[in-house]
Amino acid sequence: MTRFKRRAMTQTHAPQANNAPRHDWTLPQVEALFELPFMELVFQAASVHRAGFDPSEVQLSQLLSVKTGGCAENCGYCSQSAHFKTGLKAEKLMDADEVIARARAARDGGAQRFCMGAAWRELKDRDLPRLAAMIGGVKALGLETCATLGMLTADQAKQLKDAGLDYYNHNLDTGPEYYGDVVSTRTYQERLDTLAYVRDAGMSTCCGGIVGMGETRRDRASLLHQLATLPSHPDSLPINGLVPVSGTPLGDKILRDGAKAIDSIEFVRTIAVARIVCPRSMVRLSAGRDDMSRELQALCFLAGANSIFVGGKLLTTPLPGQDEDSALFQALDLRPMGVGRTAEAVAAE
Ligand code: SF4
Repeated sequence: MTRFKRRAMTQTHAPQANNAPRHDWTLPQVEALFELPFMELVFQAASVHRAGFDPSEVQLSQLLSVKTGGCAENCGYCSQSAHFKTGLKAEKLMDADEVIARARAARDGGAQRFCMGAAWRELKDRDLPRLAAMIGGVKALGLETCATLGMLTADQAKQLKDAGLDYYNHNLDTGPEYYGDVVSTRTYQERLDTLAYVRDAGMSTCCGGIVGMGETRRDRASLLHQLATLPSHPDSLPINGLVPVSGTPLGDKILRDGAKAIDSIEFVRTIAVARIVCPRSMVRLSAGRDDMSRELQALCFLAGANSIFVGGKLLTTPLPGQDEDSALFQALDLRPMGVGRTAEAVAAE
């Protein structure tokens, strides 16, 4: 077994010296990365990370739910689906001024990117003017703008780009083989189509998935294989750990079985493989970070994660508070990446 792993690592899967993104990964190659001895895997991922990024910098993004609940999709993990009784109250689309005020506070708290999320199956043209006002206002604050609004048409993608949208988030959730166990109201191909419209419109893509939903390691490898073989790798690659929500099919299953959604070491492996197969993506710790120890987060940063969501809440699930994150950054000698840093953070460098 050991000999097999060593041969696989040295012959096929060592990171390329020039760290250039590859788009020809095969699923067996991605699976073989998962099988590497843990220390080797983390070392390779950390080497790839250092070749492309300053490992002491972590990007801070903040996500605001601008339209909560009542979604027509049936994603089996989601508290916002109208298909499940989770006790969440559906709300209307927020006013642009309110969103811009929240974005200003996020910027003053150190965020570089502000993401606006709406629980929609797809974007309706009637909502575009208000969204354009939000996007323009957030961008005028000097923040990068991101939105996640469900499926788009090619024309809607162009209109969002014209409004100043930098990034569009549309996750694949999992590999195509497990996808049918997660959602049935939207096909995998529809997700890929929306991503294509976003790329064609000239926006950057934010695309990742969720682990700990009962999928196998092969399913996790298959998700990363999909991402690594897209025409261009996602600019941001969020890896979410399932936060089991009572009332959702996948959340109830985890809560009923009393099992941990995913083993911590397996989570770090997933981060490391994501870093290796998408060497220039911002690999983001997203949902589930609230449940991670400081030590686990440190291992994830070592394995190539270089982006986090901040702000105490991620749509409807909790995140660590600002004080906790500041203390973690101090303990690990990390600093926020790029623009939008607080005066204190800049002065402290
Ligand atoms: S994950 Fe998004 S698309 Fe799916 S039910 Fe929740 S809000 Fe709707």
